[in-house]
Amino acid sequence: DLKYDYLIVGSGLFGCVFAHEAYKKGKKCLVIDKRSHIGGNIYCENVEGINVHKYGAHIFHTNDREIWDYVNSFVEFNRFTNAPIANYNGKLYNLPFNMNTFYQLWGVKTPDEAKAKIDEQIKDLNITNPQNLEEQALSLVGVDVYEKLIKGYTEKQWGRKATELPAFIIKRLPVRFTFDNNYFKDKYQGIPIGGYNKLIDGLLDGIEVKTEVDFFKEKAYFESIADKIVFTGKIDEYYNFQFGKLAYRSLEFKTEVKDTANYQGNAVVNYTDRETPFTRIIEHKHFEFGTQEKTVITREYPQEWDESKEPYYPVNDAINSEMFRKYKALADNEKDIIFGGRLAEYKYYDMHQVIGSALKKAKSI
Ligand code: FAD
Repeated sequence: DLKYDYLIVGSGLFGCVFAHEAYKKGKKCLVIDKRSHIGGNIYCENVEGINVHKYGAHIFHTNDREIWDYVNSFVEFNRFTNAPIANYNGKLYNLPFNMNTFYQLWGVKTPDEAKAKIDEQIKDLNITNPQNLEEQALSLVGVDVYEKLIKGYTEKQWGRKATELPAFIIKRLPVRFTFDNNYFKDKYQGIPIGGYNKLIDGLLDGIEVKTEVDFFKEKAYFESIADKIVFTGKIDEYYNFQFGKLAYRSLEFKTEVKDTANYQGNAVVNYTDRETPFTRIIEHKHFEFGTQEKTVITREYPQEWDESKEPYYPVNDAINSEMFRKYKALADNEKDIIFGGRLAEYKYYDMHQVIGSALKKAKSI
């Protein structure tokens, strides 16, 4: 007989939000995860008293008041504002591209001077119909911003030359003519005080959880104990890869404890030259204004994905989008399974979006 109303496969944000909503409505839930911890990719590991973002730096931001209130009902958020720095061949620039950046590049002091400089550089190139990412970016911001702050970073991220990448990857390149280093435009932004694990613990409070359990290893059993399944793992794996394997981009994180209180003075420093093999260095303590004696830094190396690596970013090219469409058609026909989250929907989702999506799907409970 059925022990649970819902079996939730995956304890990432999607699974946790769904489980919390179901639990609130009196449903009996079991959450399982194949990893040794809960939280999915927002999980943090405590090193030297610092919350280390184990699966990549996570900064919460949203324009949606309801979602902001929702997360703050589990844990209070701090006032962290993402203001990354770019290091190009040893020189530092503010990001996103704004008046500080333009002053650092050209010494221009007014918005009119900055605009004139960019317009002049764009005009000189005379690109009318951009054929690839390089031409697209050049036609939007001119040669200096592109060469120093975009080209190398993008090539490392994608593992390909900018001239071999499609133009559509970059639709807009926001340039700001104010001295404003706040990366995000959203109204609300911050990091949970005490770390993301507090958010996860709050969501799962009172709910039964089992880690180090892979759904596929005991599929028949798990299907037999619950009325409905919420699946947040890889959709192609759920269907035995019958239409092929969906592709991803991956990352390798190399984390180091440094015997100094402050290594780089900022949470995020991007390395925008082509030669430095990593794209950025994260100094985790700065997300929470940490005052610990030591510091922990992580270098991020973009990678081609294979089965041995974490699938981080979906590759939304024509082949993979078509393959996903076939899997989705199967998923849409399922009566008792809800597919949700970044792996099951093969979609890059920010945290606020995944919460929004889970809350929406939970309305059917
Ligand atoms: P996940 O967190 O991946 O959870 C899925 C869970 O399912 C995992 O724990 C996995 O172990 C488990 N699972 C999978 N298959 C099985 C199985 N067969 N059996 C049992 N368990 C299984 N968002 C922001 O808003 N701001 C940021 O700054 C930001 N930075 C990011 C940086 C990086 C490098 C990455 C990759 C993402 C970033 N995101 C950011 C996005 C954010 O990570 C996601 O929106 C969110 O974590 C997705 O939650 P999820 O539940 O869909 O997936």
